[in-house]
Amino acid sequence: MNYLRRRLSDSTFISNLPNGYISDLQRPDLAQPPPPASSTTAKSPTASTGAGFFSSITNVVKQTAASAGLVEQTQVKNPKKFKILLIIDEPQQEWSKLFRGKKVFGDYDIKVEQAEFNEINVMARANGTCNVNMQVVRNGSKVVRSFKPDFVLIRQHAFSMTQNEDFRNLIIGLQYGGVQSINSIESIYNLCDKPWAFAQLINTYRKLGADKFPLIEQTFYPNYKEMVSMPSFPVVVKIGHAHSGMGKVKVDNHSKFQDIASVVALTQTYTTTEPLIDSKYDIRIQKIGTDYKAYMRTSISGNWKTNTGSAMLDQVAMTDRYKLWVDTCSEIFGGLEICAVKAIHGKDGKDYITEVVGSSMPLVGEHQAEDRQLIADMVLAKMNQVAEKEANAPQRATTIQPSQVKQLLAILDSVVTTELNVYKIEE
Ligand code: ATP
Repeated sequence: MNYLRRRLSDSTFISNLPNGYISDLQRPDLAQPPPPASSTTAKSPTASTGAGFFSSITNVVKQTAASAGLVEQTQVKNPKKFKILLIIDEPQQEWSKLFRGKKVFGDYDIKVEQAEFNEINVMARANGTCNVNMQVVRNGSKVVRSFKPDFVLIRQHAFSMTQNEDFRNLIIGLQYGGVQSINSIESIYNLCDKPWAFAQLINTYRKLGADKFPLIEQTFYPNYKEMVSMPSFPVVVKIGHAHSGMGKVKVDNHSKFQDIASVVALTQTYTTTEPLIDSKYDIRIQKIGTDYKAYMRTSISGNWKTNTGSAMLDQVAMTDRYKLWVDTCSEIFGGLEICAVKAIHGKDGKDYITEVVGSSMPLVGEHQAEDRQLIADMVLAKMNQVAEKEANAPQRATTIQPSQVKQLLAILDSVVTTELNVYKIEE
């Protein structure tokens, strides 16, 4: 009993408790009063009472320890006075200066860690902890860091088939570790397949109609095998999930379409086709929180892909029509705080919506600095919200307090007394 008392005051005791210690205690060769040989009727209840005695203590200790949060053996720590913001972006985009001197929820400083997807790794646990290991080279020196991010801003594509850049495993890690972010991790994962996102636009098209939401006609092929039905030519074939004009081919006739299908056969991915729009310019409507901007991009070099070769970019007026497009698109996948809708304005005077992009959208035009500031402000506002929510959430005890030790010993005392009495009576 005294031994147990001493051990209970020892903080390492509880953590060691479930594994082996108690089962050792319960082994019959441990010091237990030998059952009287003469009385077989008295023998078995006494023996079982002996085991029950220890297991009662065990259970009480376990339960009390669990309710005190001791079995996780969480270390006593001073609460940190900063929040870690992980920004996934190219090093050229210097985000830290936008957060300098800023505070979260009154008095938390913000520590900005910036890295590209290929410079980090993520390890997450079911209890909601998420560890990011980062190895970056900055100004010629290697920086290695490991930290638990409180918030993440993702400004790079999480997935691209072209450059072997598949970081969806890291997105899963962040989601698994419950890291808060802009846009939501869920929406980022959902935007990793263009046809999957296009399926959402089809729903919007059905809701609003072709006049209000002029979505381009698109056909989805899960693999090359289905690429036998003939589209009307010319078409644009878009292979897999790729960016910056990669994997997009203009096809004029059936035999070329079959050639492309044979290439798709090697890729083991899906394909979409769209009619080739005789384009006047591309349209891009972007929404960063409540800020809206519209741009038109006209090819100068004559490339049918206006994002390849040289092009001219102009900001144009935000119309109600454009606002409706981007507002409805910002509702998909539980909400996109940062997004853009891409469309083509044809020489026929019609618009064709082609795609929605999320927080990884590249910033364009003259107002990039302003846009970055808007994003930083949104991140700060969201971090405040999250910190406030955390502060108001009911706290779970993770360390043992002196009062809890007393409580534990009091319970132990009463149980031991009761069990000893039972034991005495049965003897
Ligand atoms: P991102 O980099 O935004 O992920 P992407 O550049 O790889 O996308 P798209 O934007 O679909 O792919 O296509 C690239 C360009 O090709 C567009 O900017 C547009 O100019 C042109 N384009 C795309 N689809 C069509 C089409 N159906 N008809 C005519 N031109 C098209």
